[in-house]
Amino acid sequence: MAYKSTNPFTGNVEQTFADISPALLEEKLQCADNCFKNDWRNRSFADRAVVLKRAAVLMRERSQPLAELITREMGKLIAQSLGEVALSASILDYYADHAEQFLAPEKLTTPKGEAVVESSPIGVLFGVEPWNYPYYQIARFAAPNLMAGNVVMVKHASSVPQCALAFELLMHDAGAPDGAYTNLFVSKEQVAQVIEDPRIRAVALTGSEGAGAVVAAQAAKHLKKSTLELGGSDAFIVLDDADLDKALKHAVSGRMGNSGQACTASKRFIVAEPLADTFLEKFKSALGQFAPGDPMDKATTLAPLSSAQALENLLEQVDGAIKHGARLVMGGKRIDGLAGNFMQPTILTDISADNPAFKEEFFGPVALFFRVKDEDAAVALANDSPFGLGGSVFTQDIERGKRVARSIDTGMMFINSAAVSSPELPFGGVKNSGYGRELSGAGIQEFVNKKLIRIN
Ligand code: NAP
Repeated sequence: MAYKSTNPFTGNVEQTFADISPALLEEKLQCADNCFKNDWRNRSFADRAVVLKRAAVLMRERSQPLAELITREMGKLIAQSLGEVALSASILDYYADHAEQFLAPEKLTTPKGEAVVESSPIGVLFGVEPWNYPYYQIARFAAPNLMAGNVVMVKHASSVPQCALAFELLMHDAGAPDGAYTNLFVSKEQVAQVIEDPRIRAVALTGSEGAGAVVAAQAAKHLKKSTLELGGSDAFIVLDDADLDKALKHAVSGRMGNSGQACTASKRFIVAEPLADTFLEKFKSALGQFAPGDPMDKATTLAPLSSAQALENLLEQVDGAIKHGARLVMGGKRIDGLAGNFMQPTILTDISADNPAFKEEFFGPVALFFRVKDEDAAVALANDSPFGLGGSVFTQDIERGKRVARSIDTGMMFINSAAVSSPELPFGGVKNSGYGRELSGAGIQEFVNKKLIRIN
């Protein structure tokens, strides 16, 4: 049974769900197509906004049970789960409020006649989504696209099926017609069939590079557009003039939020020589304060990793890094005495460019620490990565911060803070971190037909 809720703190399997049957999959595809053609695309922005606004209200009303589901399925601290529910509701509201303005017809200046570019929906979209932020990831795919007049089908990660069903129920209860939002418990083989189906017009994936390459190739084979939001190994640069206490506060939250399982987590700490020793000492001391325990308990500060496999993978990565010459400053082991998948907060340093760890993403509470002699060395090191998602730079000179931010090849840069996500900020990367954008005005433009209408 591929779709399975396993509590990362207790190890108990809570529920399993069978893959969808071929007949039901066909029924759902047809229902989505009918909904698009005969209903949803024809609705006004105001009508669609009523549904999304209602979904946001319901999400807030149900925040406690929705948050508890996240914590039970992927282990996040309950306070962070509540924060994710609030953020997801704000994404629904944001697109309900702004979609019409983002997609307003654009009149062109033309020497003859009149010309206008209108944005029309393209049809049924398919989203493949990850477990690390179970509602936020689907809200940021579904909200803009539903407001644009498309309908969406979602294959959520197989470890968060109850969250997947809870979001589908939310949309249903908010008044979305059958077929506007559809959850699919599909196998990987069925993913390929769904992408091939002529009723599916485009595909969005958030996840690993491997899954992105597979799904994008399937979409390309059938001449369908895709967007990819993939992994990252964000640099966290501390320049010699940084406010050290501020940088440390953000370093801790940037690495440890969601137990380090975020694509835009701060992963590579690149610190200028004059501050390096003090930064490392204080960072180590701060990471040593984290208290593992039941993620439902508000006193717990370190949550388990999402699965036993995730913990195994991370331990192997750390061992591999050490075998290739990295030095372990702290941690590096699982936390014994607790049933859950707990990893000690870990810092590695002395990671040479030929160490595989130098180019890898560490998806958990493992910080890679580098010391550099100056700004140029920091920029060169930050750019020496296959990834290009986000990054941070700390300096008290904002112009210097902007200069550094501009010279780093990523989709997002944050000056004097760790990465944040908010509905109005575009989210996405370059290089192996993928292509396309979600959130903000940019996120609603990916799957619309920019249609020219010229009147002579
Ligand atoms: P993952 O294994 O790639 O899974 C993501 C989704 O893709 C899941 O629904 C998964 O389904 C599906 N999938 C995996 N292989 C597939 C295949 N061959 N064909 C079709 N579907 C496939 O990634 P993850 O481990 O859950 O998430 C961690 C990665 O996602 C990290 O690299 C992280 O940085 C990245 N991420 C990126 C962003 C961003 O916005 N850039 C956000 C969050 C996470 P199953 O669950 O059934 O395997």
